[in-house]
Amino acid sequence: MGPPPDAATSKAPLHPTIVKKKLCLVGEEGVGKTSLIRRFVTGMFDDAYVRTLGAVATKRTIDLADSPLGPVQVDLVILDITGKRTFLDLFQEAYFKGAAGVLGVFDLTHRRSLDDLAPWIDGVREEVGRVPVVALGNKADLREKVEVHEREIGTVLGSRDVRTMKSSAKTGENVDDAFLGLTREMLAAR
Ligand code: GDP
Ligand code: MG
Repeated sequence: MGPPPDAATSKAPLHPTIVKKKLCLVGEEGVGKTSLIRRFVTGMFDDAYVRTLGAVATKRTIDLADSPLGPVQVDLVILDITGKRTFLDLFQEAYFKGAAGVLGVFDLTHRRSLDDLAPWIDGVREEVGRVPVVALGNKADLREKVEVHEREIGTVLGSRDVRTMKSSAKTGENVDDAFLGLTREMLAAR
């Protein structure tokens, strides 16, 4: 049996490098972590508040044609966590182990969630070192309720070497940009 007749003319299949990366979400309960993952993975938003118990892993495969490593397929494992600090204290090591990047989420309509994000970020760095961190001010769609502004974000996070963005899991604003931008940074680091 010879090769199929069109073998000589068909293009060689592209074999992208496949890498597996772990991305962790942190931030207080109710800031929108689960909604952001849902939006990123399924493209949907649901107002029903389902409390996350423990830690939940979700997978999404991303093809990047122009990554720092050339064409890659990134098998992203996204870890969601319950917002309770007690959980972090107990499982910090297991949860963050091997994480290549962190999405730290706060709620633009609750000032306290920004202050509370700082110890989460410090906890991650303690565990995994200087991996890329993006701090996401979520619920940007609730414009009239927004009470956290650039200056406060700079005051709390300015010294922590994190990139900050604003997002809405409800409208989808900046959600892909946040996850994909972080993924690119994760590939560029190391
Ligand atoms: P988590 O505890 O951090 O996982 O937060 P959830 O994803 O469960 O969201 C908490 C609540 O905020 C839910 O009622 C969501 O529907 C709502 N929520 C999450 N993201 C947004 C957003 O971008 N805009 C608005 N308006 N509500 C959001
Ligand atoms: Mg949740």
